[in-house]
Amino acid sequence: MATSGRSFDETVCQICAEVYKDPRVLSCGHTFCYQCIVQLKKRACPYCRSVFTLPADGVHGLPKNYALVGVLETKEFDVNAISTGLFIVKLSKYLINWLLNELAGNSFS
Ligand SMILES: [Zn+2]
Ligand SMILES: [Zn+2]
Repeated sequence: MATSGRSFDETVCQICAEVYKDPRVLSCGHTFCYQCIVQLKKRACPYCRSVFTLPADGVHGLPKNYALVGVLETKEFDVNAISTGLFIVKLSKYLINWLLNELAGNSFS
């Protein structure tokens, strides 16, 4: 399945290797953080080396990758769901241990 591949994370910027902050799409179709594009020495995509042109208002005028913004929000939600799940697992382990201790205590008293 598509989710099994861990080598390439679509939510990580290829310049700063961190989760995108304000993802912007270049004319070649690749996406980088707003700040990462601002800091580029050359007006060329660091990923595919295509030369890109900036809009009149600079990097700010580049289109936002709204699809990715949605994915990032979903990912945040997933992380919350996972930590809640882990909490429930911990809680049930605690309850099982408590129950076993209770049972052991009763049978030996
Ligand atoms: Zn970046
Ligand atoms: Zn590119």
